[in-house]
Amino acid sequence: MYEENEGKMLKKICKCGKLIPYNLKMCDECKSMMESKRKQNRKYYRKTTYERDNKYNKFYKSTEWKKIRQLAIVRDHALCKDCLNSNIITQYNTVHHIVPIKQDWSKRLDINNLVCLCESCHQRRHVLLNRRG
Ligand SMILES: [Zn+2]
Ligand SMILES: [Zn+2]
Ligand SMILES: [Zn+2]
Repeated sequence: MYEENEGKMLKKICKCGKLIPYNLKMCDECKSMMESKRKQNRKYYRKTTYERDNKYNKFYKSTEWKKIRQLAIVRDHALCKDCLNSNIITQYNTVHHIVPIKQDWSKRLDINNLVCLCESCHQRRHVLLNRRG
């Protein structure tokens, strides 16, 4: 009885040439090989993006940055500089690097390179930066 059922089961050929049940995509060996390959790719991708952003992420968490950032906030009275130029008083939202740190790493702790901005002014500055560069 059992043998008869077994004989009727549909089979197909895996890409490696092995005979496998029709309802499977591939044999166990090919499946585990593909899964480990996929895992490796994912690990590689995560590592490269992590390494690229690590330097900047670390910087924004550093005490040096927090200190200089605080000085810039005090200097600008925690107000948006761009709004102030148009005689509008707006609470700052972000301390922005005028020359981006990705462009000039040496200016990351230069208070003259820092400016307090509200969210909309900050976004506008970045749009301008992107257009220029
Ligand atoms: Zn296979
Ligand atoms: Zn503003
Ligand atoms: Zn910015």
